[in-house]
Amino acid sequence: MFADLHLHTFFSDGTFSPEELAAHAHEQDLAAIALTDHDTVDGCPATAAACGTHGIEFIPGAEITAEMGGQEVHILAYWIDTTSPTLMQRFSEFQAVRSQRIHGMVKQLNERGVALTAEAVFAIANCKAPGRPHVARALVSGGFCNDFDDAFERYLKKGRPGWVPKAMMPAADAIALIHASGGVAVLAHPGLYRMDRLVGEAAAAGIDGIECWHTKHNPEASRRYQKMAAELNRVATGGSDCHGNSKGQPLIGRIRLPYEQVNRLRERRPTPSPAT
Ligand code: AMP
Ligand code: ZN
Ligand code: FE
Ligand code: FE
Repeated sequence: MFADLHLHTFFSDGTFSPEELAAHAHEQDLAAIALTDHDTVDGCPATAAACGTHGIEFIPGAEITAEMGGQEVHILAYWIDTTSPTLMQRFSEFQAVRSQRIHGMVKQLNERGVALTAEAVFAIANCKAPGRPHVARALVSGGFCNDFDDAFERYLKKGRPGWVPKAMMPAADAIALIHASGGVAVLAHPGLYRMDRLVGEAAAAGIDGIECWHTKHNPEASRRYQKMAAELNRVATGGSDCHGNSKGQPLIGRIRLPYEQVNRLRERRPTPSPAT
């Protein structure tokens, strides 16, 4: 039995509907999947229902953008209470920051002579968590870029004309928020940060797991993070980070996490404090 614990839908910057995602998970013979859209859990109810029709275990989740020592890191949340008012309040703050950032990116692009409108981006995003992939798609459909990668390369990568820094919450706060919402926290794709000391720092900040298997980790990186997870007594997890069809073949199925890791992660769920 296998799982994929890192997946996106069109409720953030993926292209799949919940039903399409569940159908792909079924096709890939996955026993369990987690939905980890950026800064939203809006896709969870529909994905849970769609997984139910295929007999797939569904884990509600999200991917939170945070910061450690000035470096942007992503924290994956699992089994969070998707109805928690505190969590929903924080997510709506993150979503407001994302919308503001789109306006900032469009303004900078306009100043460079790229006549993109924020409306064009929001029409493509059509969700509460607009981000750079939506700007990339709008740049392509507006004829300003040849393809998705070209848009990132020319305009959206860090330091490029359309890039706007994000206001990020400290990783320790994100981890505490996840725990307070009944969830467990995992450091997403450490290989993308090129700073392995962040793994130890995340552990010190209370992280429960390390995403060792990811489509952007080579086998050597996966082994290195598994070793670090074992030494730090954290759960080794994994996911494809599939965003649907936005870049050729969907990534779902490329990472097949042994199901026992899901159970190990589940064991780290905080016990609810007794009602007072
Ligand atoms: P944002 O949250 O708006 O900063 O957008 C981040 C998302 O953009 C990531 O989750 C990736 O899906 C995507 N992304 C980031 N960098 C690149 C890149 N160089 N090429 C293509 N997609 C990227
Ligand atoms: Zn994304
Ligand atoms: Fe990420
Ligand atoms: Fe992701």
